[in-house]
Amino acid sequence: MTLELTAKCNFRCPCCYCLWHEYPSLAENELDLDGWKAILDKCAADGVDDVLFTGGEATLRADIFRILDYARRTLPGARLSLFTNASRLDESALKKFRRRRVHLATSLQGLATYGEMTGTRRRCGRLLSLIAKASELGWPFAVSLTVTRANMSEAADMFAAAALSGAEFIQAGPVMLGGRAVSRRDLAIGPDEWEKVKREIRSLPDARVPYTFCDEFACDCRTDLPRVPLAKREDAGRKPCQAGKAFGTVGPDGRYRTCLHALPKKAARFSVSRGSKKRKCTLAGFA
Ligand code: SF4
Repeated sequence: MTLELTAKCNFRCPCCYCLWHEYPSLAENELDLDGWKAILDKCAADGVDDVLFTGGEATLRADIFRILDYARRTLPGARLSLFTNASRLDESALKKFRRRRVHLATSLQGLATYGEMTGTRRRCGRLLSLIAKASELGWPFAVSLTVTRANMSEAADMFAAAALSGAEFIQAGPVMLGGRAVSRRDLAIGPDEWEKVKREIRSLPDARVPYTFCDEFACDCRTDLPRVPLAKREDAGRKPCQAGKAFGTVGPDGRYRTCLHALPKKAARFSVSRGSKKRKCTLAGFA
C-alpha cells in the first residue's frame, strides 16, 4: 500500500506524476492523524505487509513520526518505507528513520539539471551528501531516476553519482506523461532514446548496486487519457505494469485507488466501521 500523506510539497518538479495536478479535488480535505490511524488499522486488519509513505512531501507533516510510530506498532512485521525528496532530512532525521526501521527512498532528478528538474534553485550536492551519510549510517537510500529530455544527456552520470554516493538500489525510467507532466510533453523521450540511455547505464563500470529499469511510458490503468503518442511504444522491451496485481494507494483525502496514476473506479472513501459488514472488505474490495 502506498499512503499519500499530503499533497503539499516544497518542490515543483515538472515531471511530478502526482495525480492531483490533474484532478485538484484529490488534494482537498487531507486526513488528520486519526484518519491515517484508521487507514493503518484497516491495513493491519487486511494483512498488508508493505507500506510506502509518500506525498507530496510527507515530511512536511508535523505529525510524520507519530504516523510512523503508529504504523510500526500496528504493523510490527511490515516493511515500512518513506519516499521523500530528502530536502528536510539531516543526520538526526536519518537516525530516527533507522531507529523505526523505516526504509528510505528518494529521487535524483538531475545533476546540472537538478534545479530545473525540481522546480527549485537547489543543487544536487546536498542530496548526494545525504545519500552518502545514510549509507555510512548503514541505512541507505533507494534512489529513483526519472529520465527526461532535459536530463537525458546526464542520465548515466546521474546513475553513477547515485551508485557512488551509496544508494542501495537504483530504479530508472522515462518520464510518464501524467500528473504535472501532462502539460510537459516537451520533456518526453522516445523508446529509441530510452534504449540508448539504458545502454549507457549498462556500459558503466559495475558499482555492485542492484538496479532496475521501468520501461513504461504510460500507465495502462489510465483510461481517461489518449494513448501517449510515442510511435513505437508497443515495441519489444515495453513491459506492462506489474503494480496492479497486489497494490493499492490511499490519497491525501483517504480515497482508495488501485493505481498511483489513475482515478478511483468509484469514489469509495476508505473507511473502517467496526463490527459491520464493511469490516470484512479487503482492500481490493474497494477497487
Ligand atoms: S515529484 Fe516528489 S518532490 Fe517533486 S513535486 Fe512531486 S511530490 Fe514533490
